[in-house]
Amino acid sequence: MTRAGDSTMRAVFLGAPGAGKGTQALRLAESCQLMHLSTGDMLRQNVREGTELGLRAKTFMDAGNLVPDDVIIGMVEARLSDGAGSSSWILDGFPRTLPQAEALDKSLSGKRMGLTHVVFFKVDDDVLVRRLSGRRTCGSCGAIWHVEFKPTAVEGTCDKCGGDLVHRSDDRPEAIGQRQQQYWDLTAPLLDYYRNSDRLVEIDADRPPEQVFESLVKVMN
Ligand code: AMP
Repeated sequence: MTRAGDSTMRAVFLGAPGAGKGTQALRLAESCQLMHLSTGDMLRQNVREGTELGLRAKTFMDAGNLVPDDVIIGMVEARLSDGAGSSSWILDGFPRTLPQAEALDKSLSGKRMGLTHVVFFKVDDDVLVRRLSGRRTCGSCGAIWHVEFKPTAVEGTCDKCGGDLVHRSDDRPEAIGQRQQQYWDLTAPLLDYYRNSDRLVEIDADRPPEQVFESLVKVMN
């Protein structure tokens, strides 16, 4: 790891859909004032706003497929170099393919930087399906809820901001299987990519979120 002399963090969170990366990234970003960059959130925002990128991405997302590398890599690089945010960040949901991981390494090494943390949230497949199908996301603030494991006080309404909860189209059973397949085919090979360069830290994410967070804080220190 090229942990910077100061406390700068450049972290990547890896894990299958439903592993809890987003929940943990949101929480860590809030408590450590890091920038949370979720490629899924960025894409959904583009879809909502009807941008050209959003229109191109939507068909892939709805079918549970990955959006093409060139679209994603361009979007992330633009965001990382726009200077608008903190120099400490967590990438949640990126990279998801080998070309994306290589592009990220290349772009950072061009700036004489490297990742400081690569964290893998490990969960068994059957748990993931249950987590995804009950997941509800706030359309306004992005908070993540679950009908069974983390229900809101009023069904369909976000406890944090009062926004409407959304059942993401790709969290429906038809798309979940395809997303998992894409994960095993295209994203899981990244574990070896980072393992082989001695950068991967694993966390058992098949535990209550508070316990996962405790482990996360330890590995981030
Ligand atoms: P997420 O919210 O991270 O589960 O992402 C939702 C969807 O956005 C994924 O199923 C993909 O269709 C797309 N997506 C997000 N991140 C990426 C990425 N790094 N590469 C390709 N597609 C992505």
